[in-house]
Amino acid sequence: MFIGHYGFACMVREKASDIPLWLLFASVQLLDIIAFTLVLLGIEKASYVPSDNPFFRNCLDLPYSHSLSGALIVSVLVFFLFWVLDKKSWAWILGLCTLSHWFIDLIVHTPDLGIFLGSYKVGLGLWNYPILAYILEITMVVTGWLVLKKNNYSFIFIFLMVGAFTGMVFAAEPPFFSEHDALRTSIVLIVNLLFIFLAYLWDLKTISNRIDTGYRDSRHVFKTD
Ligand SMILES: [Zn+2]
Repeated sequence: MFIGHYGFACMVREKASDIPLWLLFASVQLLDIIAFTLVLLGIEKASYVPSDNPFFRNCLDLPYSHSLSGALIVSVLVFFLFWVLDKKSWAWILGLCTLSHWFIDLIVHTPDLGIFLGSYKVGLGLWNYPILAYILEITMVVTGWLVLKKNNYSFIFIFLMVGAFTGMVFAAEPPFFSEHDALRTSIVLIVNLLFIFLAYLWDLKTISNRIDTGYRDSRHVFKTD
């Protein structure tokens, strides 16, 4: 899955408002960030293959980042990082968000997700039905976006995310993209990091609005008293 994970993160944030949105974004997308990094290092593979189905334009071999065993290890590490080092009570939520990536990917991937490293590959294959896969991703991200407070950054976020994903699904792959795997992977990695940064700005603005509103309310209470 590409953008649906972000929608899931927004829904978690609605229930757990203590957790910074950018951390939720980073945790639900961590397995992909690790995958892109390992691909750039030559340890995993994601190479371009021509296909009419936009979801099949990647030949994937991701035994570490996208096996259930790998996902469990990374999720436990995230939990320990925030629980042991930072004493965060919500560390377990971040750990589960990290693990959620694998189970959400399971819905769409064809059997290329290993249970233990590269063996026992699974995937329910919604990507075989690209329009349904597209609708699922857009529904997840728009639903998640709708439940959170909006500001300028949130509108930039949804506009860029839906626009970029729609372009990816319905437009032809630019030749420079299909001919240069490393460039393609780097751009996708940078775009994901930009969305995480946008979540940081979105949150910052929400917090400053809350402080402003609290200040105005307190002045109002003072006057009426
Ligand atoms: Zn993934």
